[in-house]
Amino acid sequence: MCGIVGYLGQSVCANWLVSILKKLEYRGYDSSGVAGLNKEGFKLIKKPGQILKLEKSLPKDWEIESGILHTRWATHGAPSEENAHPHLSRDKSWAVVHNGIIENADFLKEKYKLKTIGQTDTEVFENIDEFVKIFDEVKGSYAIICQKTDRKNLFIAKNQSPLYVAEDKSHNILIASDPICFTGFSKSAFMLKNGIFAEISDQSICFYDRKGLKKDIEKINVENCQIVCNESEVESFMLKEIFEQPLALKRQVETYKKNNVLRRLDKNFIKKFDRAMFVACGSAFHAGLIGAKYFETLLNLPSEAVVASEFVYNKRVFDKKTLFVLISQSGETADTLKALQTIKKAGAYSLAITNVAHSSLAQSADLSLDICAGPEIAVASTKAYVCMLSAMYLLAKNVCGEIDQGFKDILDASNKLLDFDFNKVEALATCLKQEKMVVMIGKNFDYVTALEAALKLQEIAYIYTMALPAGELKHGYLALVEEGINIISFAGEKNLLPKMINAGLEAQSRGGVLTMVSPWSGDGIMLPITNQFLLPIVSIVPMQYLAYRVSTLKNLSPDKPRNLAKSVTVE
Ligand code: GLU
Repeated sequence: MCGIVGYLGQSVCANWLVSILKKLEYRGYDSSGVAGLNKEGFKLIKKPGQILKLEKSLPKDWEIESGILHTRWATHGAPSEENAHPHLSRDKSWAVVHNGIIENADFLKEKYKLKTIGQTDTEVFENIDEFVKIFDEVKGSYAIICQKTDRKNLFIAKNQSPLYVAEDKSHNILIASDPICFTGFSKSAFMLKNGIFAEISDQSICFYDRKGLKKDIEKINVENCQIVCNESEVESFMLKEIFEQPLALKRQVETYKKNNVLRRLDKNFIKKFDRAMFVACGSAFHAGLIGAKYFETLLNLPSEAVVASEFVYNKRVFDKKTLFVLISQSGETADTLKALQTIKKAGAYSLAITNVAHSSLAQSADLSLDICAGPEIAVASTKAYVCMLSAMYLLAKNVCGEIDQGFKDILDASNKLLDFDFNKVEALATCLKQEKMVVMIGKNFDYVTALEAALKLQEIAYIYTMALPAGELKHGYLALVEEGINIISFAGEKNLLPKMINAGLEAQSRGGVLTMVSPWSGDGIMLPITNQFLLPIVSIVPMQYLAYRVSTLKNLSPDKPRNLAKSVTVE
């Protein structure tokens, strides 16, 4: 994952560049570093831990005319100072920051007899004079910025990992992994394609392909990707994003209506397929499970969801009759992109569902649908998940010729989204904070909500949470239920309520402490009444808030959970 930033232009304060790097902290926060050049020479500072540590160690009044910065999510080597980026070349004439994984790093280190200091794969670039030569041999993903230690020029290259270059009105250049960094700097940017290099100097930005031929690249508009507030202005991005969900849904409906976004995704489009397969990871995979249920129930189209990292290992029979739907918040998820490559190679049809309209996934798929959730910064997905569900619901309703009803339903759900008893959730959070294990159960749509709610509690509150189809309890898992174990039961579908009550009683009579999440049960956490299809949208919200509260009650950091990063650009 990692976030990288580069700057070349009039002298700016190092603190300002570090504040830009902080916008990428969602991509990794194991260690960070900055290398900078000014008239007095070159300086390099690296620190293990969050960017705050780097910030505190910056020399006062340090001005930089050209510099590179990095926030790391370690893949090779411990998150130590020596493994932190920027790395220096052997002769100290270059510094380099890297996002990605060099898969044949050991082979290259051996071949070029590289005497690396740390353990990172990035250090294959330690002999940078071999840079161009080595590029033909490097296998894996990378976005790289290299800086000369004696002159301002920067060199950049990319394969798979994202990289953007923006220029402000005074021709200062900013390079970053994510255009959110360009807020207040530029509304447009160059988005590098795979295999493109660039040399950036005071005078120009020149792009080249692998053969060294000059390339022209069009700028894209990045206004929509920029964040409206920074960390110091909000208590927590996750909390902000939970409360923003009604607005995000309304914005989605408005955009879909105004731009007729679903026009190509209609009855004639779906007619071409006799089944659908949703491919995604993490929360997006859970969204895929719901998408498959929407497609089967509303469109009568046999559908299933597959985890992207496993997709490539199954021997699939690809045919033109299968619609592959690939879902990813960032559109840069490496596992999902890898699955897309396989799908494209087989000549099958792909539809991307992402939150970043110009992302690699959106651009490489045959068709793409933007979920319009707005930038999501907290590692644990909230508004993007909910907007993925509503986008797929609207797609299905459009195919059914019922889009107006679809819009009405989503607006209705958005008005009810925060209609739950916060005090009850608070009480449950207090109860769960010392727990080591929680069990969540549900049926049909509610089983997927249990999976997503369990993921939230695990990723930010570090409590092992087992999500089960309620019917599976008695097939083995009931053996784990003992006095005091917390069971959260999702019982949103009215016709399944008796079965959910029975499952709850079975657990309760073995000492389990039961909390129902349902519009039908007076006890527990009450949900607003909606139709079956909107249920997964309304029932996940109190669970997001629950995970957030358990995390904060445990004094953890919900926006930046340990060992995780948001945009998973490595396989
Ligand atoms: N592989 C590099 C490291 O471990 C960069 C990590 C990344 O971008 O995820 O330092």
